[in-house]
Amino acid sequence: MQHLKFTRWHERQLFMSFAWLVSCLMCGFLFVTIIEFVGVNFSGIFSILSIFALYLIGIAIIELFRRFWMRFSFAQTCATQATCRSCGSYGAFEVRVGARPIYARCQNCDHHWIIGQSKKRG
Ligand SMILES: [Zn+2]
Repeated sequence: MQHLKFTRWHERQLFMSFAWLVSCLMCGFLFVTIIEFVGVNFSGIFSILSIFALYLIGIAIIELFRRFWMRFSFAQTCATQATCRSCGSYGAFEVRVGARPIYARCQNCDHHWIIGQSKKRG
């Protein structure tokens, strides 16, 4: 199981979430391009194909944005909870990659706490 320093982990989360966002925007451009250059005013099989392609791209846009937002909001939630309450140092712990929630142990004062939980439970 891979461990990363919190700041490194957070940076990686932001890179990955923005990769999803860029993919989402690319799909958006593709969607607009199909409407602009192919259109939906054809008759017969071509019209059905272009509407079906727009439908699939639309679903992809929603899913890609959802992935961006889930990862991004989780990373930001963790960043707001990464300060040690005992000694005040920021991000002084390691994160097990893929773990949710994150069990943090301060490297300065050995204080334990859990970050990344939803606010309703914690
Ligand atoms: Zn501490």
